[in-house]
Amino acid sequence: MAYDFDLYVIGAGSGGVRSARFAAGFGAKVAVAESRYLGGTCVNVGCVPKKLLVYGAHFAEDFEQSAGFGWTLGEADFDWTTLIANKDREINRLNGIYRNLLVNSGVTLHEGHAKLIDPHQVEINGQRYSAKHILIATGGWPQIPDIPGREHAISSNEAFFLKELPKRILVVGGGYIAVEFAGIFHGLGADTKLLYRGELFLRGFDGAVRKHLQEELTKRGLDLQFNADIERIEKQADGSLKVTLKDGRELATDCVFYATGRRPMLDNLGLENTGVKLDKRGFIEVDEQYQSAEPSILAIGDVIGRVQLTPVALAEGMAVARRLFKPEQYRPVDYNMIPTAVFSLPNIGTVGLTEEQAREAGHKVQIFESRFRPMKLTLTECQERTLMKLVVDAGTDKVLGCHMVGPDAGEIVQGLAIALKAGATKRDFDETIGVHPTAAEEFVTMRTPVAG
Ligand code: FAD
Ligand code: NDP
Repeated sequence: MAYDFDLYVIGAGSGGVRSARFAAGFGAKVAVAESRYLGGTCVNVGCVPKKLLVYGAHFAEDFEQSAGFGWTLGEADFDWTTLIANKDREINRLNGIYRNLLVNSGVTLHEGHAKLIDPHQVEINGQRYSAKHILIATGGWPQIPDIPGREHAISSNEAFFLKELPKRILVVGGGYIAVEFAGIFHGLGADTKLLYRGELFLRGFDGAVRKHLQEELTKRGLDLQFNADIERIEKQADGSLKVTLKDGRELATDCVFYATGRRPMLDNLGLENTGVKLDKRGFIEVDEQYQSAEPSILAIGDVIGRVQLTPVALAEGMAVARRLFKPEQYRPVDYNMIPTAVFSLPNIGTVGLTEEQAREAGHKVQIFESRFRPMKLTLTECQERTLMKLVVDAGTDKVLGCHMVGPDAGEIVQGLAIALKAGATKRDFDETIGVHPTAAEEFVTMRTPVAG
């Protein structure tokens, strides 16, 4: 049967664009549908604008610390409207780049909401198109628990477009988004509280990292409230919000920001017209090659709920393009040793196993740790400390995990991830000459284990 397209991609986000461009480059006839914004979550309401806001928040401490280096500044003043307008301009520019990337690689772009009609047909803007393969790359959407007053809360989607910086904000959650945005709002001058339902935030990260970040954020004056959960939110006559916690406490704030995870974006997608199945958590179920229960339909990225990170969606998109149209170049995505950063202030950078995971997996481990005050701060009043940690297999000497809390941790861990992926041992680390004077050189000068 002749199809309109070899591949029809639903969603022009990180994974969809990558897959569409590479498939077209391999000679396939490709279309991509996008209902909202080119570049998807990462470019529009995720990684990119978030990082710009983190940079913005960082200036507060730069100004403060500059005094130790002899600078005298006038009173610093921050204007949220300028930051948001400049951020919007940059995102518009990136949207244009994504459009050019697609068009120049020969992909047909359909702007509108795409719906599956059957295993080989998609409907968009009243038109139907057939395709041999359909790739669902529709990403995710913020999930806010169903509590009374939920309509008064915002999510990350709205946080990027607030008309003004709230005077007081309550950030709910203990994952990446909550920790990053608490740092952004606190850095920009809002009176910020972070509320997390468990004992300690960032579940799944190394225990020492979680504790260290807790201490550092507390030193900075961020109000961390653990074992705290919201029962209801009520709007007051003056426009402020009254938040009642499950333990009966009441808090007054101007904005409640939920960052409590993301659900797959499947709204009105027409999955019922196909044999696609969902897993227990509601994400699209796929095999190792991203094929759903419907053989002509594949899915990648956040909508399959494996690892919700842009570089992972990119790798999955590339794998699908290769498998379908350049099988001789196909390589499965390796989900081991995925480096990641939390862009809190200070940053977390991490790759490989945490100490807890390594012990649980049966490794006999040696732990190396270094805690120090970064050189840049020695001329300032700032008492921030950096943490670096290596988890090593005592038997094989292989470095199983690297963890850091401190300035530029994400930048530093990217390079270490290559070493770990190549199977570096602690001896390789020891025999590597440091770059002096840097913080990163600590990773190659830790000699004595702190725990075995
Ligand atoms: P998306 O990028 O979400 O793209 C899906 C696209 O599909 C969207 O454009 C959507 O409009 C479109 N779509 C949905 N349904 C339809 C339909 N029916 N028809 C047509 N189009 C449709 N990851 C990192 O690696 N680093 C970070 O620093 C980072 N920061 C983040 C910060 C925030 C606040 C958030 C929310 C996420 C962040 N992420 C980060 C995660 C990252 O953004 C996602 O993992 C990534 O965008 C997933 O890519 P994707 O292709 O699966 O989906
Ligand atoms: P996460 O899954 O990282 O964290 C969700 C948090 O919300 C957890 O602390 C969870 O608690 C808590 N939570 C979940 N449900 C509830 C509830 N009903 N009530 C109260 N608390 C609740 O999700 P995020 O929304 O922070 O981010 C989504 C994903 O986006 C991340 O997992 C990450 O993959 C990606 N991302 C990556 C970034 C980066 O690379 N720097 C930045 C931002 C996002 P508990 O732990 O107890 O379950």
